[in-house]
Amino acid sequence: MKTVDSYNFAGKKALVRVDFNVPLDSNFTITDDTRIKATIPTITKILNDGGSAILMSHLGRPKGGPEEKYSLKHLVPTLSETFGREVKFADDCIGQSAIDQAAALQPGEILLLENLRFYKEEEKGNVEFAEKLSKLGDVWVNDAFGTAHRAHASTAVIGQFFEDRVCGYVMLAEIENADKILEKAEKPFTAIMGGAKISDKILIIERLLDKVDNLIIGGGMTYTFVKAQGGSIGKSLLEADKQELALEILKKAKEKGVNIIFPVDNLCADAFSNDANRQIAAAGEIPDGWEGLDIGPESIKQFAEVVKNSKTILWNGPMGVFEFENFAKGTNAIAEAVVEATEKNGAFSLIGGGDSASAINQAGYGDRVSYVSTGGGALLEYMEGKELPGVAALK
Ligand code: AMP
Repeated sequence: MKTVDSYNFAGKKALVRVDFNVPLDSNFTITDDTRIKATIPTITKILNDGGSAILMSHLGRPKGGPEEKYSLKHLVPTLSETFGREVKFADDCIGQSAIDQAAALQPGEILLLENLRFYKEEEKGNVEFAEKLSKLGDVWVNDAFGTAHRAHASTAVIGQFFEDRVCGYVMLAEIENADKILEKAEKPFTAIMGGAKISDKILIIERLLDKVDNLIIGGGMTYTFVKAQGGSIGKSLLEADKQELALEILKKAKEKGVNIIFPVDNLCADAFSNDANRQIAAAGEIPDGWEGLDIGPESIKQFAEVVKNSKTILWNGPMGVFEFENFAKGTNAIAEAVVEATEKNGAFSLIGGGDSASAINQAGYGDRVSYVSTGGGALLEYMEGKELPGVAALK
């Protein structure tokens, strides 16, 4: 696989698939520029080599035609400031004007194409659409790990039209860090799985059972495990049809000698609200009318102890409804323990998938762990052992 480091972009027009799917407020101001910052190394290398960059991305979920609120033109001022030069904009990602603007691009210049998803062909992986896009550049660079699990026109299908297909720095770092966890994990290896549902995480949990020493389970998925074993969970989140599966996971964990750790207590609420009444209940003893929205203080202690003694940590999914301040304590405490393991114990810690990245950033610890993945679903699928179309297309 060609990488940005091993490729000389001098005199080339690089067509770069980036992930500029950033959150915008009602004034079209970017509220989190993490994804833009992440692309700086790749784009800077292209420009410094004496190449030019044509950037393509999706933004939001347009219905298949132009929509003002999803226009990538809102990013132009931020991009111009970030790269210290005027970033040009093509108001259609294909067609004659895009071709002309791409052709006129000089070394060191950047052209941003309008939202790819203004064409439904993008998500359909349409070959003709991919071919039209491919005409704009001499070399294809894929740096959009977050969409690498989708076989879309710009993320995968386009690869066949290029001799030179180059893996960007973000993509490479994501793959290398995931591989480090999957193949070179130093022991003890602890996986912390949280979030809402078992069904989203079942494949990765099964794969991890072959690799980890400790599997900590928190978040909403806990209660399906507890219910399956006969505990009372009140009105906590339950996937009734996943109880068999939960029991199977427990059985497999036992067979494989994995130390599977559940919360021993829960912070419960009488309504799904930050201002609900609260009480602590022991695991399996949640009263009727109450629901577990966070792990309890004793669980925090036990989880933190295991995390702090680990050498490799994979964290996916919050311990509770961290969006509610009153139920964010468990998630924040685990974030602190991961930071401590990383800084004091020299652990390698990878945070990613689903909401985990926003949880660690909200807790203010994003830059104190080893790596925060930019890919939600893509990271999970990679870790489940699936070949990602966006990565396969680079090979
Ligand atoms: P995921 O995207 O699978 O990582 O799930 C993240 C979501 O799970 C967040 O929005 C949390 O609010 C939610 N969540 C975590 N714990 C609970 C819980 N105990 N009850 C309901 N939702 C939860």
